[in-house]
Amino acid sequence: MKGLYKEIEESQTLLINTQSKLLIDQNKKVIKFGFGQSPFLPPKSVLKALKESVKHKEYTSVQGDSELREFMSAFHKQHNSLEVDPNNILIAPGSKILLFNILMAFKNADVFIPSPSWVSYAPQARLAGHHIIKLNTTFEERWRINSKTIVEGTKLKKHEASILILNYPGNPDGLTYSEQELIDIAQIAKSQNMLVISDEIYGLLNHNHSHLSFSNYYPEKTITTTGLSKWCGAGGWRFGAAFLYKNIEPEFKQALIGIGSETYSCAAAPVQIAAKTAYKNFNETKDYVDYQIDILKKIGNYCSDHLNSEKIKVHAPQGGFYIFPDFSFHKEKLNLRGITTSHQLCERLLIETGVALLPASAFGFDADNLVARLAYVDFKEPKEKHLFNIQNDSPNIIEGIEKIVNWIGKS
Ligand code: PMP
Ligand code: GLU
Repeated sequence: MKGLYKEIEESQTLLINTQSKLLIDQNKKVIKFGFGQSPFLPPKSVLKALKESVKHKEYTSVQGDSELREFMSAFHKQHNSLEVDPNNILIAPGSKILLFNILMAFKNADVFIPSPSWVSYAPQARLAGHHIIKLNTTFEERWRINSKTIVEGTKLKKHEASILILNYPGNPDGLTYSEQELIDIAQIAKSQNMLVISDEIYGLLNHNHSHLSFSNYYPEKTITTTGLSKWCGAGGWRFGAAFLYKNIEPEFKQALIGIGSETYSCAAAPVQIAAKTAYKNFNETKDYVDYQIDILKKIGNYCSDHLNSEKIKVHAPQGGFYIFPDFSFHKEKLNLRGITTSHQLCERLLIETGVALLPASAFGFDADNLVARLAYVDFKEPKEKHLFNIQNDSPNIIEGIEKIVNWIGKS
């Protein structure tokens, strides 16, 4: 019967992954720039810890293993001066469910969501019944929000509670904020008494090793989310964490634990044990992260340089593994080919070349913005770090970029 159920489509990220796999099953070559999944394996010691922990079959507390929370607190203090009391850490099967549960803890709220931003924030806010205030950005602003954008947004407020979702290095743009920009946003957030959810899941993959945590600028009311999915290459293990602020209202923390207890119960116990190894030894982790950054930086710059030289405008990435190329310079040519939306752009590119991208419409843009997200993850990690060479080790990156450039050049 119609009208009984909530309207919610499968997330665009997971959908492109399924579609790409279907084409591959039909023996078609797909260059997988659609789904944002790390190609790196977790460090050997972490893999070993997971293998050895299968007998840990008991549930943990909802908040997660207490020793692990201590390791995480020490790790983030050392890594990016982020101060969090282990008692204020929530561990869950992925940060995605934590983001959702934070939103669910509010009865009514205005949720400020930058555009572009990750595909799941707006659907989650809608499922939680909140009012969304979109904060638009431009290419020239490097797709970043600022205090002015936020003030404009506050004019649309309907509720007492305000939640701002920040994400940097960003998905889909790969860009970060300068310290001054963070200070400005913190100032305005504080003056508006906003809760800021700072999604820093790509923080460790900042290409200059210089990630700054928002909680340092707005410790009063920032919840930071992170996890193992990106820097540790373990998205399918489903491990995420939220760092609550120091004087969190007891009833808010209770609501978060309550919702967790009524939904996921706890993160998988063996994964929590493996996570202890990942967070225990900062120096080992650092080598592993440096190795990934070295490769990601080379590939990201290769992609942005080549696209820019064909007037597909894109900012060189500063972290994570995404770029957000803007095809609007080629608008007339694309229109003549019957392509007027980002969805059509990605559909035709996939059909005609086998290159999968995700349209900007999935990230909060109007349909006719000819922009798309490219996840530069279609490569295999080399056996030896120092041996990495784009031409030899990432043929699909080279082929994919070449195919996009040739396709756009076609009259
Ligand atoms: N935030 C962003 C920006 C992401 O790209 C992802 C992708 N998985 C998530 C949150 C959720 O990650 P996870 O649930 O795997 O921790
Ligand atoms: N974060 C990844 C992406 O944006 C995929 C995983 C997900 O959406 O849960 O492609």
